[in-house]
Amino acid sequence: MVTTEQVMEALSTVDDPEIGRPITELDMVADVRIDATVVTVNVRLTVPGCPLKDRINADVTAAVRALDGVEEVAVVFGTMTEQQRAAVAAKVRGGATDDAGQPAIPFNDVDSQTKVLAIASGKGGVGKSSITVNLAVALAQQGYDVGILDADIWGYSIPRMLGVSGRPVAFNNMVMPLQGNGVKVISIGFFLDSEKPVIWRGPMLHRALQQFLADVHWGDLDFLLCDLPPGTGDIAISLAQMLPKADMLVVTTPQPAAQRVALRAGQTTAQTGMRVAGVIENMSSFIAPDTGTEYHIFGQGGGELLASELDTKLLGSIPIEPRLREGCDSGMPLVIGDPEAPAAVRLREIATGLGRRSSSLVGKPLPLAI
Ligand code: ADP
Repeated sequence: MVTTEQVMEALSTVDDPEIGRPITELDMVADVRIDATVVTVNVRLTVPGCPLKDRINADVTAAVRALDGVEEVAVVFGTMTEQQRAAVAAKVRGGATDDAGQPAIPFNDVDSQTKVLAIASGKGGVGKSSITVNLAVALAQQGYDVGILDADIWGYSIPRMLGVSGRPVAFNNMVMPLQGNGVKVISIGFFLDSEKPVIWRGPMLHRALQQFLADVHWGDLDFLLCDLPPGTGDIAISLAQMLPKADMLVVTTPQPAAQRVALRAGQTTAQTGMRVAGVIENMSSFIAPDTGTEYHIFGQGGGELLASELDTKLLGSIPIEPRLREGCDSGMPLVIGDPEAPAAVRLREIATGLGRRSSSLVGKPLPLAI
């Protein structure tokens, strides 16, 4: 006859689909009864009428049914009490709060192993979001756990570029990020009516960002990429103040005018404690597919110049690639859709460099939330 321990072990392979943790760890298994070959599992749902009840039912049944000596599985559902839910939320969150009693930003913890990269640009349209998405996916392809915080509040475009839509699930004041192409993502776009402009004022935006950092269950990320709004506005400064350990990557196009405004964005780090970790030049040139001739449509040398002015390195130059734009529009990042395209190769090289630079962190034990 099967034992309770064996059933519990099988149940520890079943994740809650929303929270992404084993149901045993979340105290969702209220009781297990074994009657010869029949096993009854009482599952406590975190919310009544949980939309994923059927999925949990199927997963629990399959896991227990696979055990030797089990012929029938019955799953009985109940709901957690408010107290039980609060206990689980505290467990998932890790219970950390800041001095003001607010949920703490885990990335500022001295033991945090997450490399936070803020992607900035002087003006819109230089490819900051496209690069954020492709770098994130390239890092995920290299085996890192990666998240994107879309902080480009007015011009949010990450969900579309990553091919993710929907509304994240909230659980006792904690929000579960959505996931696309192997990358976790949270964006203001998930919480807004896409037809309406964002009319929030500074304090609300500040609070939203604070929540995105502290109340989202990011898990143990290796990299968090923050797509900043273009320029040197409040949001960029707010975020820099919330993430003093972050490094900034500045994206520019090669022409002098773009490079000059990007310089101002990079210089905000002097006021905020962030460090500029490098410059990425985008739309560097266009290589004609028929002749192979390279055209410097937007001029030359802006990335190099910006890097030297910010006393940092040029991490790479990415050519104009129509398939990159098409991929952004269709939610299929170039590094997945066309990994051998020259722009994809360059993006991967930059990602490899970023990974290498934080590789001293890899292999160290990750801080556990519980
Ligand atoms: P930003 O975030 O700086 O406002 P986006 O990433 O939204 O810029 O890019 C602006 C537009 O340019 C998008 O349509 C994007 O697909 C396109 N784009 C960005 N980089 C390239 C590139 N290297 N080649 C071709 N199109 C690009």
